[in-house]
Amino acid sequence: MQHYALADPQSADNSNLNRLVGATLADAASETPKVAIAHRLITQLNPQSCVDVIRDRWQAESAKLIHCSVIFGCVDSFSEREQLERFCRRFLIPYIDVGMDVIQYEDEFRIVGQVAQSFPGAPCLRCMGIINEHILKREADNYGSAGPQPQVVWANGVLASTAVSLFVRLFTDWGPKQELVYLEYNGNDSCMAESPRLRHVRKESCSHYEQGSLGDPLFDIASTIRESGAKGVDGVFSPPTNWSDYVAHAPVASPEFMENVEDLPMQ
Ligand SMILES: [Zn+2]
Repeated sequence: MQHYALADPQSADNSNLNRLVGATLADAASETPKVAIAHRLITQLNPQSCVDVIRDRWQAESAKLIHCSVIFGCVDSFSEREQLERFCRRFLIPYIDVGMDVIQYEDEFRIVGQVAQSFPGAPCLRCMGIINEHILKREADNYGSAGPQPQVVWANGVLASTAVSLFVRLFTDWGPKQELVYLEYNGNDSCMAESPRLRHVRKESCSHYEQGSLGDPLFDIASTIRESGAKGVDGVFSPPTNWSDYVAHAPVASPEFMENVEDLPMQ
């Protein structure tokens, strides 16, 4: 792996040094953006890496994500989760979702989390019951009073490593390839197991995302033609005579991804 795109609007501070891998006291003092810390860590490990950095929400520069072979979502809300999954479905990108929460149950705290894989055409987060209208509405109603979500580094580490294992299984010969993965984590018992909800998921297909709703809904053919260098007449842009230029600028899944998809024996 050499190409990365990182998106996060937040900066390091003292409160997250205990869980932000790679961050230092100096980063907290100077409020270094979290993506700059990740960028630094990646290039220190591999100077040849090519990293696109978005110091904002991913939606601000989503074009940088279109050619990703896989996207990991480690977002704070169900609404963000749904938007990112919707984007991935449009551009046929496998999406690996990581979520974690610390909840109070009677007089103790419980660490719960999940790692789920949403593969284009296969069951989505709604099919798996991770997202539904009730959850989205409750979240919208509580928005603003929810406050910062508590996080703990050991649970984050287990969930992140599990997410990486799904990526490795998808793109290498390591382990079985599965279209549908939904693992639940119980941080109090240090237990990661397949979610019981999977028994109720229809495995054949997803009814929430139409197979035909692909590509950029705001795709602007005029600007694409302009960027391809096609010459207009009297300020009106005519279609390019060289259509390979046009096709080269159209949003498509990366060749590496398409190659892997063809080789993927699905269970
Ligand atoms: Zn679905």
